[in-house]
Amino acid sequence: MSDVELVLRSTRVITPEGTRAASVAVSAGTITAVLPYDAEVPAGARLEDVGDHVLLPGLVDTHVHVNDPGRTEWEGFWTATRAAAAGGITTLVDMPLNSLPPTTTVDHLRTKKDVAADKAHIDVGFWGGALPDNVKDLRALHEAGVFGFKAFLSPSGVDEFPHLGQDQLAQSLAEIASFGGLLIVHAEDPHHLDAAPPHSGPKYADFLASRPRDAEDTAIAQLIAQAKRLDARVHVLHLSSSDALPLIAAAKAEGVRVTVETCPHYLTLTAEEVPDGASEFKCCPPIRESANQYLLWQALADGTIDCVVTDHSPSTADLKTDDFATAWGGISGLQLSLAAVWTEARRRGHGLEDVVRWMSTRTADLVGLRQKGAIEVGRDADFAVLAPDETFTVDPAALQHRNRVTAYTGKTLSGVVKSTWLRGERIVADGEFTTPKGRLLTRTP
Ligand SMILES: [Zn+2]
Repeated sequence: MSDVELVLRSTRVITPEGTRAASVAVSAGTITAVLPYDAEVPAGARLEDVGDHVLLPGLVDTHVHVNDPGRTEWEGFWTATRAAAAGGITTLVDMPLNSLPPTTTVDHLRTKKDVAADKAHIDVGFWGGALPDNVKDLRALHEAGVFGFKAFLSPSGVDEFPHLGQDQLAQSLAEIASFGGLLIVHAEDPHHLDAAPPHSGPKYADFLASRPRDAEDTAIAQLIAQAKRLDARVHVLHLSSSDALPLIAAAKAEGVRVTVETCPHYLTLTAEEVPDGASEFKCCPPIRESANQYLLWQALADGTIDCVVTDHSPSTADLKTDDFATAWGGISGLQLSLAAVWTEARRRGHGLEDVVRWMSTRTADLVGLRQKGAIEVGRDADFAVLAPDETFTVDPAALQHRNRVTAYTGKTLSGVVKSTWLRGERIVADGEFTTPKGRLLTRTP
């Protein structure tokens, strides 16, 4: 114990065994002991007593579009990681598209890492991309440390990241399964999207009708069938359609290796409340009706949905026009995700322990980051200090991401992040940031 440098003390520490008063000892950035609340502070160690604020493991957000390099006017590593840190997130995994180049070869991965290296306020990992023409690059990317591969089954929104047809999906998935990798999928079926009523203009109802639930349900069914046939590991990104839940539950019960995420906006915003022309609410798949949302919460509670991630996908404000057909699709929610989910979770009778499981432990598990996702001996000393009962009203001026557009403007949320800690260092407190201390992470072999 002699080398303990820091002790964090709280009356409410969220551990895998539950919430309790405890003192967490930290040495060289690692949790070395979870001690009784009134344990003696070792000589030479600094005590940080956060009182009744909750000490929880830093969140792990495995779905973030940083867009850097190439579309840095949309977002960048500096701004995205500051927004994440301010929201209690200590690890993010960057999506392979919307940056230029996309992360689809080892060279491109290197380019991204070079850009991110000195801008990361939190730890950053990378997904690779699976395109129709890069099957030959997948194994090398896997060995270079990406956490898995993202594919689209319908157009992605950017020309340089084409989607996979069913045969191409089979080919990529077979290759990924051959080295034990993970395929993460934007699951909307292009034929169902084409068959939906065409739309343009500011009416949200028209946009919603253009991205029907059966487009998701069909694509997910196809993905599950492929995963089962190849005994491959797949992950459904940003699930919105509750109609897909029974087939996901059945696949899991059957032993198919499928996991599922949903996002704060599907859990906290509803189609009924989206004003016409308000394209800050546009994302694909779309925010659906409140009855659909109710079922997503049920599925989180029963484990059909594994985890919650932001899918933070910003653009410049001028691309958020009032025409839902042409406006950029993507919600900016990085800094607000913990508060948004906690506010709604609490209203529905869930505890902070549940939120931690969905947004930290399970997401760390998804990408195999065994040093993240829990307050436990041997893990990184990554924490968020939260005042769960304090409320705030969302003011875009207080957000750290590059373009201060958000669907949450004016909402009153519970849960104020007082400080965020990365490997035992306080990286932000009350809006004051240290210099970047994040590391670039690679998949644990
Ligand atoms: Zn996304």
